[in-house]
Amino acid sequence: MSSTHGNTIDFDSAKLKLSQGTTRSAPAKPAAGRPTPVAAVLQRLSHLLQTSLELERVLEMFFQELAHNLAVDGMEYRNDGRRFQTKFGQSATHRCSYRITHGGEYLGDLQFSRQKRFSEAQLEALETFIGSLLYPLRNAILYHEAVSSALNDSLTNTGNRLAFNQALDREVQLSIRHRTPLSLLVVDIDHFKQINDRFGHAYGDEALKAMASCTHHCLRSVDSLFRLGGEEFVVLLNNTDLTAAQIVAERIRRAIEEMQFEVDGQPISMTVSLGAVMRHPEETSRDLIDRCDKLMYQAKQAGRNQVML
Ligand code: GH3
Ligand code: MG
Ligand code: MG
Repeated sequence: MSSTHGNTIDFDSAKLKLSQGTTRSAPAKPAAGRPTPVAAVLQRLSHLLQTSLELERVLEMFFQELAHNLAVDGMEYRNDGRRFQTKFGQSATHRCSYRITHGGEYLGDLQFSRQKRFSEAQLEALETFIGSLLYPLRNAILYHEAVSSALNDSLTNTGNRLAFNQALDREVQLSIRHRTPLSLLVVDIDHFKQINDRFGHAYGDEALKAMASCTHHCLRSVDSLFRLGGEEFVVLLNNTDLTAAQIVAERIRRAIEEMQFEVDGQPISMTVSLGAVMRHPEETSRDLIDRCDKLMYQAKQAGRNQVML
């Protein structure tokens, strides 16, 4: 037997509004003086949730408290608008979910699951706990957005150079620790200046977006694409050796060559030149990217629209 509750909580109205089921009475306030055990837990939780602005960390701390105090087995948070989703613990049969808004602002959906059915008292306690999460969650979302926009190239919706530098350092560390190969591609559009000159800068921008989107479709979800600047992009391929990197590079090259792209009914064709490298042991991030860049320039010199290893 499973059970599912669906609720909407808007904290701005200062009381819990349930879209389904009955409105529950507010939890009992602690008597003056010594806090009740529940009040003490909530106080500690509030302090704890203020110790981080990282969305993942805030939610993780929140889940640990729920697991400890309410025997919640699993929790899932998703915020589709901000393309963020994360899970903690193990999913179980009995579920309840909350859509959280604050003053009309959507803050995400939380789903909790438990092996045993949630009692009315537990749901009430859960909602009180969610009350403590509201402001830390809101602050963490704002922080997440600020960090994301600082790392994002808004034209092509790919990571920017700063994001690339951070990701490359992280992937180099992981590749050393797990002894897995790490490969890199540098992708540069051929004669892009001519596209701009012929069709205008706005068309060039559309071509850049189409090229980034087409490249993205050639990648696994664990691969990442960054715009280093202008019409030069880089792809990070973790756990990928040079043979596999060459296959991905060739797939990108062909996909862009075959891309059917038009702006205002005007077909625009383009090709790319690529360098592909696998990191050597002891090679620094700087040397790795320089080596890949040089290969990309060799691909240009050799006639463009090709991959150089
Ligand atoms: P090559 O095949 O040797 O790479 O030639 P290219 O014309 O692609 O390279 P070049 O470096 O000569 O020119 C790059 C052009 O990219 C020049 C610049 O105006 C254009 N560009 C850089 N950033 C943007 C952008 O954000 N939007 C548009 N539309 N053009 C851009
Ligand atoms: Mg170019
Ligand atoms: Mg270039």
